[in-house]
Amino acid sequence: MTSRSLVVVAFGGNAFQSKGDRGAAEDYWRNAYIAAEAVAKLVNEGYRVAVTHGNGPQVGVIAEWMMLGWRLKGTPPMTLDIAGAMTQGWLGYILQQAIYNKLREKGLIPGKVRGVVTIITQTLVEPNDPSFKNPTKYIGLWYEKGEAEKLSKEFGWVFKPDPRGGYRRVVPSPDPVAHVEIEAIKRLIDEGFIVICSGGGGIPVIEDRNMLRGVEAVIDKDLAAERAASALHADILLILTDVDYAYLNYGKPDAKPLKRLTLSEAIKYYNEGHFASGSMGPKVLAAIRFIQNGGKLAIIAHLTKALEALKGESGTWIVPDTT
Ligand code: ADP
Ligand code: MG
Repeated sequence: MTSRSLVVVAFGGNAFQSKGDRGAAEDYWRNAYIAAEAVAKLVNEGYRVAVTHGNGPQVGVIAEWMMLGWRLKGTPPMTLDIAGAMTQGWLGYILQQAIYNKLREKGLIPGKVRGVVTIITQTLVEPNDPSFKNPTKYIGLWYEKGEAEKLSKEFGWVFKPDPRGGYRRVVPSPDPVAHVEIEAIKRLIDEGFIVICSGGGGIPVIEDRNMLRGVEAVIDKDLAAERAASALHADILLILTDVDYAYLNYGKPDAKPLKRLTLSEAIKYYNEGHFASGSMGPKVLAAIRFIQNGGKLAIIAHLTKALEALKGESGTWIVPDTT
């Protein structure tokens, strides 16, 4: 890799809230500075960096706030695309300031980086994505059956019984196709900015008679990160989370950390179901797609081991098959 390699870094939930946190603002800042430290280390090594992040817990929190407003004052809840935009502003601001401060502290701004900027990003999805007919992603609060029926009538929301008890809203999670703002993102990176984009996987939009329109859905942030990384011709997709490696037989006594996988091996283990569908699965799938689309290296690693992961000292490396 050349020293000006572009790395797309995808931060998981632990970049804002770690296990046991109440989710107070101070928790967000403390965790974001750990994430910012990872970015600063990469910049210091000469990498160009684009950043993306998840928003699952925050969409849940916004749903809670909106229901409180609805119950207390009849304030109508916003739609899910707008809630997604709120999380991009919320988390984008926190990362933007934390990364800016870290870079300035290390003398990297001004210098290697011209600035840090968050882009409200829309992600195109297919209107006939199968997930629209079969929503499966649980969001927000748990309700009694009667209450769920009332909300369903009022807002057209779909509820399903949650395995953990009660009823919960389910929404589609369509496959991301492309980011509407990708050209702006690319130009800002080329001009030396660190861009925070595709937050929460981006705001899901469909094209409807030549117009963009937000839809009530959520997008997986790892799959969306791959779309950005591939479109930007990034050298590396670096997915940072709360485990050191993707494992075989995860959680079992014979669990085995995976240090280096070829594309074929990754596909084989993925198809064998080693990676849980709501968590590690999309990370490995994003890595697979990135390599299939011409990427040279995808890494899944712990948030605090970003640089070690790039050096090959930690994390799961997924590389093309040797030809
Ligand atoms: P993030 O917020 O970073 O996207 P997730 O919770 O979605 O985090 O995914 C990381 C989690 O995936 C780990 O904490 C772990 O519990 C879970 N996981 C499921 N299968 C595996 C596996 N095969 N190897 C490692 N972790 C796994
Ligand atoms: Mg996740």
